[in-house]
Amino acid sequence: MPKIYLLDVTNRDGVQTARLGLSKLEKTMINIYLNGIGVFQSEFGFPTTRHEYRYLNANLELAEMEAEVGAPAWLKLKPIRLGGWIRAIVADVELAFERVPGIKHLNLSISTSDQMINGKFQGRKNRDDIIKDMTAAVDAAWAKGAESIGVNAEDASRTDLDYLVEFGLAAKEHKATRLRYCDTLGYDNPFTIYKSNKALAERVGLPIEQHCHGDLGMAVANSLAGAKGTIDGGQDAYINTTVNGIGERAGNADLVTVILAVAKSKEFADSYQLGGKVNLSKAWKIAKFAEYAFDVKIPINQPGVGANAFAHESGIHADGVLKDPENYELYGYEELGRGDPIKVDTGREITAGEYSGISGFSHVMGKIKDVSFKSREEANEVLELVRYANVLSHKPLVEDELLFIARYPQIAKQLLTLTPLA
Ligand SMILES: [Zn+2]
Repeated sequence: MPKIYLLDVTNRDGVQTARLGLSKLEKTMINIYLNGIGVFQSEFGFPTTRHEYRYLNANLELAEMEAEVGAPAWLKLKPIRLGGWIRAIVADVELAFERVPGIKHLNLSISTSDQMINGKFQGRKNRDDIIKDMTAAVDAAWAKGAESIGVNAEDASRTDLDYLVEFGLAAKEHKATRLRYCDTLGYDNPFTIYKSNKALAERVGLPIEQHCHGDLGMAVANSLAGAKGTIDGGQDAYINTTVNGIGERAGNADLVTVILAVAKSKEFADSYQLGGKVNLSKAWKIAKFAEYAFDVKIPINQPGVGANAFAHESGIHADGVLKDPENYELYGYEELGRGDPIKVDTGREITAGEYSGISGFSHVMGKIKDVSFKSREEANEVLELVRYANVLSHKPLVEDELLFIARYPQIAKQLLTLTPLA
């Protein structure tokens, strides 16, 4: 039976969202947490973008490294796949491999709806040109050493299905690994996306990615319906998610909610299951980190990780849940890694920032287990990196970030190096 895999796009769709962004260190932490959750692939960024490529190269290097002796087990980038996003044109493929020579996994994106072909290219390209551009880009990516290639049909939900099949078959003929069905505007509903994804799986014969947006409030429901259609059509499904649902406009399908919906919703998991080792116990950690890093509060009623997801007050509910949690809860808070009290200092606090000195810094680091410095020079070097990280994120680093910098100073240095116009 085909399975459902998770392909998270927080570091691409999430960071390209208006008003929102992440520092390169924060993007790295997201990749590390996604690996901990068992996500199949992180779309970790834009290989053609100048300010991005050092971060991409550094993450690929980290993925190749053996875990440092004594480093905590979660601090690694294996076995998650790191995939870049580029436009499906040969020039982007060439630039991507020039800037990020070690990139192995790519998604190549091009618009397929008549609305976008006419609206964006203004008569300069037609349907045939789109397929020609895409197949040439796929060929170029294979020639440069790609190991997997997803082909993205932007605005697939407003694309004529027969043309989409023709587009998918052309991708398949050029050995593309997957077809991404982008419901770019959140236009689908579970009934329409089930039908289109099943037809694509059957008629094209490639695994299908579901890339859904929440403009009509159905991103998660559509993702499940599309995945079901794909599996019923005989292919693996790859649901695109983002942490806390952060993404363009009304956002994308939320990672934690998708996992919960697949695993816990009525009868779904009887036939449709997550592939790989998905581990929800890191859900709380990644959601809270993304909340802090994006500076966007998790809604109080967010599934699983919202403040009220396990809160009960009214008499009948409180009485019922105390007698047996299953009376009013579908799943336990422990499964999501919740339950530990959060310690908040309310007295004197020393934080590490861009103007910190060694004394305050040593005090902060002294509280973190798994970290000790061999010498004052080493501590000074790490402090310098922490200062730069703070310049880029404008907020005190969390403990995991400090630990990461202390353990992988050379990787951190690459993440923090930005050279405009070079
Ligand atoms: Zn999107």
